Amino acid sequence: MSLFTETATWAEDEHRMFADTARKLFIDEMAPNIDKWAEQGVVDREFWRTVGAQGVMGGAVPEEYGGFGGGIGYDAITIYEQGRVGDTGWGFGIQSIVVHYLMAFGSEEQKKRWGPGLVSGDLVAAIAMTEPGTGSDLQAVQTHAERDGNHYKINGSKTFITNGHTADIVIVVTKTDRNAGAKGVSLIVVETEGQDGFRRGRNLKKLGMKGSDTAELFFEDMRVPTANLLGPEEGQGFYQLMKQLPWERLMIATTALGFIDFALAETIAYTQDRKAFGQRIMDFQNTRFKLAEMKTKAELLRSFVNDGIARLEAGTLDAATASMAKYWGTQTQNEVMHECLQLFGGYGFMMEYPIARLYADSRVQMIYGGTNEIMKELIARSIDV
Ligand SMILES: Cc1cc2nc3c(=O)[nH]c(=O)nc-3n(C[C@H](O)[C@H](O)[C@H](O)COP(=O)(O)OP(=O)(O)OC[C@H]3O[C@@H](n4cnc5c(N)ncnc54)[C@H](O)[C@@H]3O)c2cc1C
Repeated sequence: MSLFTETATWAEDEHRMFADTARKLFIDEMAPNIDKWAEQGVVDREFWRTVGAQGVMGGAVPEEYGGFGGGIGYDAITIYEQGRVGDTGWGFGIQSIVVHYLMAFGSEEQKKRWGPGLVSGDLVAAIAMTEPGTGSDLQAVQTHAERDGNHYKINGSKTFITNGHTADIVIVVTKTDRNAGAKGVSLIVVETEGQDGFRRGRNLKKLGMKGSDTAELFFEDMRVPTANLLGPEEGQGFYQLMKQLPWERLMIATTALGFIDFALAETIAYTQDRKAFGQRIMDFQNTRFKLAEMKTKAELLRSFVNDGIARLEAGTLDAATASMAKYWGTQTQNEVMHECLQLFGGYGFMMEYPIARLYADSRVQMIYGGTNEIMKELIARSIDV
């Protein structure tokens, strides 16, 4: 099983070799650590560097900034292969999002400064949009950055920030003009090491994704050079978010596909092995039909995701289509986990079987990256013109 459809026009031999490298690496270095990371609530820092050394984080980054100069398809492969071994701890998705903000809107100096570290795993990144008082309604963020000479003074708080406990750099969604609505939003890159005015809160306890560190972040008169603004001028933040969200949403759909492929493989193996009433669970017509339905959904999603990657690489993936992939992909993922767990019977509820963890881990996919209700709003807007 792989990410690619037979007709995927974007996938070349290099992509297939890259996928083999990522898969082997994740089977050897990621899969054996999933439970350990879940217990400690964070992925080992060394893992980031191990993966970085294999080039798995740099496929879509230009060579002058430490990468290999390919398109976004490489990051999609990494994300899919992570899902395919059933991991949700490692925060590469966020790392990729940050890298692409940096490559799209960063100055030459910013790209040179942070690009290579993000590819090698020496730097871990986060993006902080959500606040205790607002998530879906991003225009309502309260965190603000006031100019003070050649610095900004940032005040505010963020929550639910993936990689928040470990991040060396954080893209912070701020208001540089509190009276200008969306036009007052700016993205500022914050370096966290030894900075006064920056504090990380608790590593939040979650229903799933337990190996992923999720934090509250606090900014109290934190001074950040104005040179850390992303983009040539203030007030571009909302536009920048809108430009980059299609990748975030397609990525979540790609993770969904990886998870579905993993869950189906596990469920097929289990139902071929387990017996009831003198026959294999697989031999019941109900099992065969359920698996047939799920396999069909997996192939539909694979086609949609491959089309999305091709469109993203061509620069034509629009917000509504990316929203459809995110909404339908994650809903399908949750339906599949529900049905797969059922086919495991009582063992499906036991944490020693990965399906129990996949079931819990899948739920948040319908919430973050824009809730599925917000996705439907965006799709509806494209219909009701
Ligand atoms: C594990 C995890 C990791 C996360 N990682 C990050 C991260 O790295 N960075 C980051 O910035 N954020 C992150 N988030 C936050 C996430 O993006 C938000 O939780 C999400 O956008 C929803 O915002 P909210 O929680 O404030 O819900 P709310 O916006 O308060 O929504 C509550 C409910 O109301 C519904 N709703 C809201 N507005 C509408 C509307 N217009 N129409 C219909 N229904 C509506 C929502 O769909 C939802 O069902 C993460 C969240 C989790 C749980």
